Amino acid sequence: MPRLPSTRTPAYAHPYAVTLCCSEESATVTNPFLDLPPLSAGRFAAIEDRVARLLGTAQDVVITQGEALLPLEGAIRGTAGPDTVALNVITGPYGQTFGDWLRDCGATVHDLAVPFHEAVTADRVREAFAEHPEIGFVSLVHAEAATGNTNPVAEIGAVVKEHGALFYLDAVASVGAEPVLPDAWGVDLCVIGAQKAMGGPAGVSAVSVSERAWARMAANPGAPRRSYLSLLDWKERWIDGGRTALPHAPAQLEMLALEACVERIEAAGPASVMARHASAAAATRAGALALGGGLTPYVRAARDAAPVATTLRAPAGLDASELVARALESNPALPLAAGGGALAKEMIRVNHYGPHATRGAVRGCLDALGTALAEKGLPTDPEGAHRAAEGAWQA
Ligand SMILES: *Cc1c(COP(=O)(O)O)cnc(C)c1O
Repeated sequence: MPRLPSTRTPAYAHPYAVTLCCSEESATVTNPFLDLPPLSAGRFAAIEDRVARLLGTAQDVVITQGEALLPLEGAIRGTAGPDTVALNVITGPYGQTFGDWLRDCGATVHDLAVPFHEAVTADRVREAFAEHPEIGFVSLVHAEAATGNTNPVAEIGAVVKEHGALFYLDAVASVGAEPVLPDAWGVDLCVIGAQKAMGGPAGVSAVSVSERAWARMAANPGAPRRSYLSLLDWKERWIDGGRTALPHAPAQLEMLALEACVERIEAAGPASVMARHASAAAATRAGALALGGGLTPYVRAARDAAPVATTLRAPAGLDASELVARALESNPALPLAAGGGALAKEMIRVNHYGPHATRGAVRGCLDALGTALAEKGLPTDPEGAHRAAEGAWQA
């Protein structure tokens, strides 16, 4: 494919931008995406072990060859049934989806919803157990890329453990951006995906499963079996057989990409990758406040703000999606988006994760938002925003 003509050179380009070469003989040219040999069972198992190491877990890790919604749904349908009493914590759109699946399985669901501009506390979870001591399942999202908050999983895990409930965690947005430690936190089902802070593709995900979660699934007559949603199939046909024979052809591209992103995180050091995300979040928050123009952090307390992405509230009277569209006109490669659904009017998302957890991406977003705000006649201080962002990054 020829390189598209460009009329301007954006200050910030997507770091993965590639130009594919064009050739008359293109059909015979080797291409890294094509003609791949099948992935061996040994390689597949080794990638699972590597993911387990990243999560510091001794639990079984099942790699699921699909977007993270696959293990998220499979884990709920595998463990929940009509005898389940669930506490479903809602701090963003995914919590709402989990409640729907739980109800669909016949579970009794107590929703604990908190405003999207804050995090849930361990005390709120403790109160829910006091009110409904029969709760035996807790579903929680760690960090919400869609709303920009992050929940104190270690503290909540201690409460869940006291009550002996099964603990289900969506760590898709947090893995790579902040510590995710299923064993230390007592998480029975911990779902991750490659597409956020790991900087990988969206087509591969994984779940760690505790012994008691496996037992619950095996005893659950409603758990999916002989189904693409079934985790039990992987247990019976892959894990119990010593992981020597794969039940079906592995998705090589996604598996190789997952291996590559874990390798890259290991090479950089997980702590340094997480520090980069924390710096990007702090810099965006500080930069947006210094920029002015009426822009404010959407998540009110900094301790509740997720390292993976920063959400901002558009100034009163301005439409966030319009502002973002204008900002992206100056540079479409910027990781900016408006909030989803009903949040599109008020929320701006700075998705500074994976390859975008950089000073350049943060500065680019602040500049573009500053320009869009200035066009609306609002007073902004782009230089002050740069200084504040740089100061926060270094801190
Ligand atoms: C991104 C994300 C997912 C994955 O869903 P997508 O629709 O592919 O974005 C799941 N859970 C959380 C909390 C996420 O942030």
